[in-house]
Order: sequence, then structure tokens, then C-alpha cells
Amino acid sequence: MSKTVFFFGEGRAEGDPKRKDLLGGKGAGLAEMTALGLPVPAGVTLSTEVCNALNADAKSIRDDAGLRSTVLEALARVEAAQGAKLGDPTQPLLVSVRSGARASMPGMMDTILNLGMNDAVAEGLASRTGSPRFAYDAYRRFIAMFSDVALGVKREHFDHALEDGRAAVAKAKGVDTTRLNGEELRRKVPDSELPAEQLRQIVTAYKAVVKRETGKDFPADPHEQLWGAIDAVFQSWKNHRAVVYRRMNDIPDAWGTACTIQAMVFGNLGDTSATGVAFTRDPSTGEKRLYGEWLPNAQGEDVVAGIRTPLPLSAGRGDASEQASSLEVKLPEVYKEFVALADKLERHFRDAQDIEFTVQSGKLYMLQCRSAKRTGRAAVRTAVEMAKEGLISKEEAVLRVDPAAIDQLLHPTLDPAAPKKLLARGLPASPGAAQGYIVFSADEAERRAGQGKPVILVRIETSPEDIHGMKAARGVITARGGMTSHAAVVARGMGKACIAGCSAVAVSYQAQTMTITVYGEDGKPTETVTLKKGDLITIDGSTGSLYEGAVPTVPAGLGGEFGELMVWADAARTMKVRANADTPLDARIARGFGAEGIGLCRTEHMFFEEERIAAMREMILSDDEASRKRALAKLLPSQRDDFVGIFREMNGLPVTIRLLDPPLHEFLPNDERQLEHLASVMGVSADKLRQRTKDLHEFNPMLGHRGCRLAITYPEIYAMQVQAILEAAAIVAKEGVVVLPEIMIPLAISKAELVKMRAIVDAAKADVAATSPAVAFTFGTMIELPRAAIMAGELAEVADFFSFGTNDLTQATMGLSRDDAGKFLPAYLEAGILPKDPFVSLDREGVGALVEMAAERGRAKKPGVKLGVCGEHGGDPASIEFFQKVGLAYVSCSPFRVAIARLAAAQAALRARKS
Ligand code: ADP
Ligand code: MG
Ligand code: MG
Repeated sequence: MSKTVFFFGEGRAEGDPKRKDLLGGKGAGLAEMTALGLPVPAGVTLSTEVCNALNADAKSIRDDAGLRSTVLEALARVEAAQGAKLGDPTQPLLVSVRSGARASMPGMMDTILNLGMNDAVAEGLASRTGSPRFAYDAYRRFIAMFSDVALGVKREHFDHALEDGRAAVAKAKGVDTTRLNGEELRRKVPDSELPAEQLRQIVTAYKAVVKRETGKDFPADPHEQLWGAIDAVFQSWKNHRAVVYRRMNDIPDAWGTACTIQAMVFGNLGDTSATGVAFTRDPSTGEKRLYGEWLPNAQGEDVVAGIRTPLPLSAGRGDASEQASSLEVKLPEVYKEFVALADKLERHFRDAQDIEFTVQSGKLYMLQCRSAKRTGRAAVRTAVEMAKEGLISKEEAVLRVDPAAIDQLLHPTLDPAAPKKLLARGLPASPGAAQGYIVFSADEAERRAGQGKPVILVRIETSPEDIHGMKAARGVITARGGMTSHAAVVARGMGKACIAGCSAVAVSYQAQTMTITVYGEDGKPTETVTLKKGDLITIDGSTGSLYEGAVPTVPAGLGGEFGELMVWADAARTMKVRANADTPLDARIARGFGAEGIGLCRTEHMFFEEERIAAMREMILSDDEASRKRALAKLLPSQRDDFVGIFREMNGLPVTIRLLDPPLHEFLPNDERQLEHLASVMGVSADKLRQRTKDLHEFNPMLGHRGCRLAITYPEIYAMQVQAILEAAAIVAKEGVVVLPEIMIPLAISKAELVKMRAIVDAAKADVAATSPAVAFTFGTMIELPRAAIMAGELAEVADFFSFGTNDLTQATMGLSRDDAGKFLPAYLEAGILPKDPFVSLDREGVGALVEMAAERGRAKKPGVKLGVCGEHGGDPASIEFFQKVGLAYVSCSPFRVAIARLAAAQAALRARKS
């Protein structure tokens, strides 16, 4: 291990602020702000390597005397910079001990404020500041926070003691508290009205709680406190919610967290003190304006905790009272300075920033900066506008937007014309529309969602413990909290619809109900509506509106900045993006999203329709070629119509049509009634049909009589399909449509198979030529079995193109059934045996190696062989990056992922060009 402890303060910072991997995002941001000359309280950052080393051996910093003395040396520099000393009652230094990983994990790990407190220090602080109220408020906050995080004493023990204190104050004021619940009591006696004497007693009560719960005295020695806090911060890397968050966001467990010890500044020293959070651009819409919230006379945690409703930073919007309460109006000098610093930071980092600040007695301090989390919409707008402002290049703009995040833009919004009943309005915390059944707990949300039910999670407020429920829910409502509350921040990150601070809603966890006061146009309450668990509601996170029942939605619009960004992306892209589409409607949707062809048109879906399946069954159950051909002749016209429709939609673009693939028995009648009906239509006995059905049974149909194996035994099936394709092509060509059919054979494993298939195709072509003008087409195969990948050189002698069917190729290579893997794959992911679900993101080392081999061998035989992919992986950004490296000509994915794939392919091309 190299240097482990990094000082920052007085305009200088040790270490390279680019090394977020060492300093953590928070530590790096503080170092960089310090070096830029911004007002940052001095501090020390212990690197992530320290965390990893201690955690690996399950060690405490108490076990490492060398490390401790390095920390104390650095701390001495902080003390010198601040003119104060840890534990010195006459010049007390208090510090925060803060967690901070390489990637932002908001609220997932622990932070302790006001460390360094004990009885003597509290007294010293009281006389120094002239405010015993402040000193004891800080003291009691510290005891509760430290005990919770470092000593494992539950918060609720302290809440009870605090409530007793409140009750005592209320009693003294003559308020009858016997029938008030905790929340009502807090409204009657807010924290700010607890007098010094009461706080002193609360501190005593808190210490008694610690003694009772741990059997030990609360540690009075500030160094003891420091070591305990550092251990706790490092260990919080491994707590449950942090682990869940990492899984969800693909953050490796090996990164570890840094730990920053920083001199405290106080936003709770009176009316010229404050704390706040700001975004340099609106995190919901991306609009360029300083956007944020503040609280006068409060400590940092109060804003995010949603305990008090924060006030707006800027005076520009909102009603008169909101404007009057803004930081801009209340502390104009501070506001002006902050605006300038925020702008400086955005220009320096060339990205929208999320900033924490505190004002102590009129002096501004910066406490954190990071790239702002934002919605997909905001990400697109910010990237496009920054490119236009000249802050970044168009290529950077394309690289800035996470392809997964634009998913939100592609999803439907509420139908404005649909009738709907508005129940309440809260803050538009995270955009998007969602319908679902009401649940009141995270566990319930997870359970119901696991049963396939859409749910909306309704909470008074959320905390990091609720994160699994937020993930499972379609949307989230909280009764309390602002735009930067936990619920709002996390929901935006997940791209979930969220309404925060919906104060017209009263939630009862006990009764499992939400009671909503509905207000009329005139702002007067008109009725109360009580909804219970399991009732349907709709939320619109873009407007903050809550509606009764399930309101219909309309598709998203794709113009504006999104359209511009996609033009830039398309210019950078080298791979084409096609869609998997089986119907003219799918084809049209795909074109709307910018698909440049169809990479997979499955023909079997066409046979499942009511009328056609009868003919299909007749064909399957016939036991001689003549009756099979008779049945196929019935299918021909409708099959031809399918292709006519698709070819017209895809005028000018290639269409890859896969001939029949699934095992035949999938088409068989599955009940007696159907069977008997079919028998009478076909004029055979029901017994005979029953027997034939039994004959077709397979033990392992996925590896059975399917794909081109069907055409080895029943060539007339493929012959009919090819005839339909070529006749349809001739029909539309006559209309002036440019038609580019690509005939694709599924499940081939040998050249000999393909030679036979090609012969069927050529025979059908010759038949069609007798009646229709010829249309050019190509002939190719899927590569979806390991043997096909290995034999790709030989296959290329017959095939003009390969399309990697990565779903089946993954199943066959890993011997892993996609339909059954759900039972054990989660355990593999949990244990880290597999890094990712291989059906979502291509297994590069295994399946990917086969793709590479096939591409290489195919090209060696036929340099022009066209290569594409049509599995689900064609829409997965990480897999797309791999396909770019392999040099595929195109990826093909579901129509709704086409835009995501275009962006991901552009990023892959740009990254490839860079490296
Ligand atoms: P998180 O990562 O959960 O945001 P932080 O380490 O940023 O945790 O701290 C939580 C809150 O405490 C924030 O509002 C932060 O601004 C505030 N805070 C942290 N350190 C200090 C400090 N030295 N002085 C004043 N407030 C602080
Ligand atoms: Mg923070
Ligand atoms: Mg397949």
C-alpha cells in the first residue's frame, strides 16, 4: 500500500483528485474543491485501500498503531488549520466522519457528525458560542448518531427519550400531551423549541440509554470516538442496504469506501446559519437553472431526512410566500456567492453538479460536490445543451447519456384525453407514469411484485431500508420530504415514478390505509377518500399527481433534444441497429424508433392465430406428404400476406426471415374438445389423432425435432415458406417497394444441412420463377449451437450471412435452460459465481469466445460474410460494446430497445475509436 492518508485544507490538497478509486467520490470532490480555492473545512481522507485491507482481515484501526499515528499526524494539520483541538474544551474541534465510495451511493453507508463531544467539550462550546442550546443539541445528536452507527444501539431508544423531553416541555407550556402521537408532539414542540436545560437532561437520558443497552459508558475520549467511527464507516461498506445497492448498480464489492474526517461547520447556530443542497441544473428536466433547497438554522442531515420541509433556494419560481422564504431573499450575499461557486464547479467539472453546503453565521462552506444524478430526460437535455454551450463536444454529449436511462423517455405517459380523478398533488420528484396496487411496506412490495403484480409503494417517508421495495414497485409516493429527500433521489436514480411530500395523504401503517383530503378548484377541501392496501392508483411523477384507479397511457414523443442527441449518435455509430419484429405493426413501431432493418422475423408466431393453427395442426398430424402439402397450401396465402405487409413497412431495408423453428408439438391441440373437433374437420378418427399426438411427444424438445431438422424430414414446410417469401417479394416489388429478403435457417450445425436447405430454397425459387419475376435475396444461417460456431468456416461456404442467436447459444454453451434457471441463477449472482445474468448480458469469456471464433472462421472462408446478432443481447449496452469489438455489422433487438441500442452502439464506436 502506498500513501493512505490524505490531508486537505487551506487551499491545498494531497493526492490526485482524479483518483476517486482511492479517495472516494466525496474525498476527491473535497480535495478538488479545496485546490480550486473554494471554502471547504479542512479534513483528512483515509483511502479505500485502508478500508479493503481492514475489512479483508476483519480488523479494526485499533489493531494498527502505525495507521493511527499517521491519522493523528494529519489530524494535527486539520487542528492547526482550524485553530482548534479535538477534545480541548477551550478550543474544541468537532469533526464529521464521512463515508464515500468511488461511485455515489447516496445514504447507503454511514456518516457521523459532531464527533469529539463530551461533557467538558459541550460546556466549552456553550461558552465559546454563547449558546448552550446549540452545544447540547449538537451533543445529543452526536450521542444518538454515534451509538446507532458505531455501538449498534437502535435509534428508537433515543427517540423515546427525546419524546419524554418534548412532553416535559409541552407540559410546562400547559399542553395536554396524553392523546398526542409522536408526530403530533413534534409539531407542538419542534427541535428548535427544546430549551438548553431540557437538552442537557436529554443528553443525560441518552447516556443512560447507552449504558443500559451496551453495559458500558458512552465513550468520552474523543480519540476512542474517532477510532470507533472510522471502523463503523468502513464496516458500513458491508451493511445490507449498501450490498443491495451495489448489486442493483453493478458496483463491485472490491471497491471499498474511503473515510473522510472533516472539521465541522454549523448550520444550526441561529438565523444567519443554514444548510442546503443544490443542483446546478434541474435534475428532473435538465433545465439550466440553479435548483435546490435549504433550511435555516439546521444541520446537514435535516434536509435529506425529510423531517422539516425545506425552502427553495432561488426566488424565481413558486408563490409569494415561497419566494419570500428563499435563500436568495433571506441571505442574498450568501446566495450570490453560492451561485458563483456553483457555476465555477460546473465549468470546472464540465458536468451538472450536486452540491451540499452549510452557512455558519453568514459564512458559506462547501461540503460535497459530485456529478448530479438525474433522470433520463434531464441527462439528455443537459448533454445536448452543454454541447451547444461549448462546454463539451458532441461526442462527449453522446457518451454522457447512459443508454439504460433513456428507457424512461421511451415509455408512455398518461393519456391527457382519458377521464381521470385527481386525488392529490405532491412534488414531481421523479417523472414517468405508473399504475399499481397500493402497498405500505417494502417487504410487501417485493412480495406482491414477485407474484407479478404491479405495485405502488406508499410511505410516510422512505429510508435506505426501503430500497428493495422501491426497486420492486412501479412507483413510490411519500407523504413527507422534499425534492432531495431519500425517496426522490433514489427513485430518480432508478428511473421510477415518484411523488414526494404529498401532504394531503395521511398514511396509517397500522390500518394499512391512506386517507386523502381532496381539494377542489378553489383550494377548499371537498371530500376525504380512504384507500386501502390492494386498491388501484395511478401516479404521474412528472406532475406530482395522484389519481384514482388505473389511468390509460400514450406512447412517448421522441423529438426535441432527444432527437438531436440521436442524430449525433447515429453519426458516430458504425454498427447498424435492426429490430426483431414479426408483424407489420411491430415493423412500423421499430422504424419509428429508427430501426435499420429487421434482424429477426419469426415465422412461427404467424401460425398461432385462430384460423391458421387449424391448418397447421392438419399439416402436422397428416401422415403422408400429399395431405401435408394440401394443408400447407391452405397456409400459403396467409403466410404470403404476412410478408407483403412487413416488406411494405420495411421498404428499402433488409428483412431477415427465419424459417420455422419450434418443435411441432407446440402447435398440437392441448385438450380433448380441440382434438375431437380437429378429427372431424380432417375426417380421421379421434383415436388416430390421439396416437399421432403421443408419437410427437419429446423428452427434451429444446434439443429435439425443431429448427432445420423439421425440414430435413418435412422439406415441404420450408418450401412453402420460401415460396410465400419470394411471391410476396415479387408482389411488393411490382408496387415499387425496394425489398431485401434474407432467408435464415435456424439451428444448423453442419454444412450438409445447409446444402440441403439451400436445395429446398433453390427448388422453391425455380417454382416461383414460373409465375413471378425474380427478386434477389440472400441465404444465411443462425449460429446458435456451439457446433455451428466451431464449424463456422464450413457453414460460410454455403451461407451469405450469420446471425448469432445468443439466447440459444447461451443456453447450449452453458447447459443452462433459460426457463429453469430462475430457481438457482439468483444464488449464483448473489455468491458472485457469475458476474451477471448471462441471458441479460452476454457471457463474454464463454459464449463470447464462441462468437469471436465463429466470426473469425466465417470471415476466413468468406471475407464478405455478413455478421449480426438477434438475441436479447442485441439490446444490452454491455453486450453491444462486445459486438462492436467483434466487428459485427448489426445488432437486432426488440423495437422498444432500438433507440437504446443506437445510443449504446454509438458509445461503443466512440470508445473503440479512443482506445
Ligand atoms: P451522505 O453521503 O449520506 O450524504 P455525508 O457524509 O455527506 O453523508 O453527510 C451527511 C450530512 O452531514 C450532509 O448533509 C453533510 O453536508 C453534513 N455534513 C457532513 N460533514 C459535515 C461537516 N464537516 N460540517 C457540517 N456538516 C457536515
Ligand atoms: Mg452527502
Ligand atoms: Mg433459437
